[in-house]
Amino acid sequence: MTSFEKPTLRQKLIDMFDRYSATHFGTEISTRYQPPAHRPSEERQTRYQICQRCVMDSSDPEITFDEHGVCHHCHSYDKQIATYVKRDAAGWREMEEIAATVRKEGEGKRYDCIIGLSGGVDSTYVAYLVKKLGLRPLAVHMDNGWNTEIAVRNIENIVTRLGIDLHTVVLDWNQFKDLQASFVRAGVTDCEIPTDHAIGAILYRTAIENDVRFIIGGSNLATEQMVPRTWSSGHGDWRYIRSLHNQFGKSEIRSYPHYTFWEHAIYWPYIREMRMIYVLNYIEYNKFDAIELMKKELGWVSYGDKHHESIYTRFYQTQYLIDKFGADKRRPHLSCLINDNRMTREEALATLQKPPIDEDIAATDREFVLKKLGISQDEYRGILAQPPKTYWDFESDEKYFPDKAYHWALQNLDLLREPRRVLLRRTGGWISRSAQSTWLWIRILAKLPFRLAWRVLRRLLRAVKR
Ligand SMILES: [Zn+2]
Repeated sequence: MTSFEKPTLRQKLIDMFDRYSATHFGTEISTRYQPPAHRPSEERQTRYQICQRCVMDSSDPEITFDEHGVCHHCHSYDKQIATYVKRDAAGWREMEEIAATVRKEGEGKRYDCIIGLSGGVDSTYVAYLVKKLGLRPLAVHMDNGWNTEIAVRNIENIVTRLGIDLHTVVLDWNQFKDLQASFVRAGVTDCEIPTDHAIGAILYRTAIENDVRFIIGGSNLATEQMVPRTWSSGHGDWRYIRSLHNQFGKSEIRSYPHYTFWEHAIYWPYIREMRMIYVLNYIEYNKFDAIELMKKELGWVSYGDKHHESIYTRFYQTQYLIDKFGADKRRPHLSCLINDNRMTREEALATLQKPPIDEDIAATDREFVLKKLGISQDEYRGILAQPPKTYWDFESDEKYFPDKAYHWALQNLDLLREPRRVLLRRTGGWISRSAQSTWLWIRILAKLPFRLAWRVLRRLLRAVKR
């Protein structure tokens, strides 16, 4: 969606079906749901291949290469950046126009937008930009029980220096722990989903409570693409999360903040007309410069590597993913930097030569995380030994909807797009049936003697008038 103005009803309906069909049917409508090949095939295991431009390799079981040995992630990166990222002055002007809309709608309200604040690089920089745009945000922070001291101090510094109100939501630890542990026990790739899903739910919920329809997010295409879908899928899929928890959870998760398909696909965008604005896609986003600026102006302290503001995240990225799936999150991250010309491929390869984490820290982290989640070292070894699982091994919206939605959309999509033409076509059947019956009557009448035919015709005409 390009416009942040309120759309007309007709536009809303069309958008809704475009989005729906794009999500569920792709560009070519297909009723068949196809799970990806998420386990490396025999061939892949014996034949290692790495991209000639970035550092993505066959640890992504679905990777494909062109004739020059360049991977599909690189091609998709170029396309996405060219389509959605606006780095010139025009991009910032567009962002300023959007900000003007946000400010105007927020007149008379306490806040005009909501931002999420984890204390990490992206969300902190978003807070800085939002103030620069003259907006009045409410910052929302979710405490899932894994915050480090540095993160807490960073958040305090940011909101004080920028003069932003902070709303902190503390999750019920026992319920959150049970959900997070169930993801690890299930042995799926993306064990950050319990955190990410809850953040989404809390952001929208807080926005609705404050009668605000804009949320400004820190996701960005320049640095966060290229993660294989087998490593990370199902963040917005409550059906999946619930199904996984039903199998591996041990207690109820009643108060865990969540949202359903209908909320994020229909209710939020079309009924409440809420919009997520990704401000970092409108600028030349250089993380290294952003960090320098934040250190100087906001007293921000670095966490070392990306997303290591939480010990759980550090454990998940540097141990669990690598030990269980051979998936090194540094690969997509470094590959983005290469494609963005912030790093050479040689530098990235050298970085990958180093272990992702110091062995001593790794052991301490593992002990700490497993103890906190209530998983024993033995159980964890068992989890690592089980066959890997992904999103596609469980119930999900993706499996649930296509067939039903497909038939419904087929019947109604064209009616919403071009009502006049479709109504004509549909009434055409009735008209043609009537025309046929008229012809039949003419033929019958023509066979009757003239007087009798005339009497029957008069009767018929009278019946039609009535
Ligand atoms: Zn590549």
